[in-house]
Amino acid sequence: GFKCGIVGLPNVGKSTLFNALTKAGIEASNFPFCTIEPNTGVVPVPDARLDALAEIVNPERVIPTTMEFVDIAGLVAGASKGEGLGNKFLANIRETDAIGHVVRCFEDENIVHVANKISPAEDIEVINTELALADLDSCERAIHRQAKRAKGGDQEAKFEVSVLEKMLAPLNEGLMLRSLDLSVEEKAAVAYLNFLTLKPTMYIANVADDGFENNPHLDTVREIASKENAVVVAVCAAIESELGEMEAEDRAEFMADLGLEEPGLDRVIRAGYDLLTLQTYFTAGVKEVRAWTVAIGATAPQAAGVIHTDFERGFIRAQVMAYDDFITYKGEAGAKEAGKLKVEGKSYIVKDGDVMHFLFNV
Ligand code: GDP
Repeated sequence: GFKCGIVGLPNVGKSTLFNALTKAGIEASNFPFCTIEPNTGVVPVPDARLDALAEIVNPERVIPTTMEFVDIAGLVAGASKGEGLGNKFLANIRETDAIGHVVRCFEDENIVHVANKISPAEDIEVINTELALADLDSCERAIHRQAKRAKGGDQEAKFEVSVLEKMLAPLNEGLMLRSLDLSVEEKAAVAYLNFLTLKPTMYIANVADDGFENNPHLDTVREIASKENAVVVAVCAAIESELGEMEAEDRAEFMADLGLEEPGLDRVIRAGYDLLTLQTYFTAGVKEVRAWTVAIGATAPQAAGVIHTDFERGFIRAQVMAYDDFITYKGEAGAKEAGKLKVEGKSYIVKDGDVMHFLFNV
């Protein structure tokens, strides 16, 4: 599955947020085919289009697509030097596809801050410095490994070393590699190194319940994010935690009182999903209306392969309707009549929202 790692200093609200996420999530026992670690939460990706499709098709069940959040607690200053369990945490982050960096933007005298003051800029710098130092180390090692091949005239190695050398100075300054302007080729040449500061990142600003507006801490986070190609989602972990404890009816009332249209977690999940540059296609049968995840640029056979590898191997063709057409013409029959049902072959590139039906050999 696609994973978003949750990092941040101690006492910023990571566990509170993570617990709320897993409460909103899915029982690990519903996923017999994947091993779920205790620090992992599989959460449904909220998507209003599923409900609209279900209203038309009236299926037995509706199944959202999911993504994983991994709680990577314990990343502190000194991690890159292997202090404490630091190296293990960095290795855990390396395995994720994206990073959610929780930053404390709420004041509360009762909750100790590790540095004794609320300062998002300094907090972010502590964590990011560790990530940059870890990348600097990988970068230097890789240059060392490839230098000989590059000198020997290996063009690929030469190119890789040239990219890595460009990264040294920024990493030394503690900059995030994702803030550099790298070409597709440059990124591809170093992709195998899984640089931490090149991972798509969202800052999750944990604000007080009245801290969504006129909050200088939140403004600071936004300013930092805009300089380094990161996104910001503001939530109040305390509210999310309360919402997680409530029955559906109370929850609706509580949210209405606060003027919230949806739980903040939904925004966190959607932002995480967007970070991974994923898209959703749907299958809409009477048994099941379901959302599936594919990478942007995936072909029809690759999309079929998400359902089952046999579907990819034996792919013949796909029937495809755009989501909007499916809704406008109230289902497959109507879409077909209007000429909106297309038959596509192996080279079809899937679009977000496609409603698909696959024909295949087994
Ligand atoms: P972690 O160390 O980053 O995992 O932080 P925790 O989730 O354990 O939170 C640390 C403390 O801050 C706990 O006592 C939480 O109840 C409290 N806390 C978390 N989020 C909020 C919040 O949004 N507002 C307030 N006032 N307290 C919070």
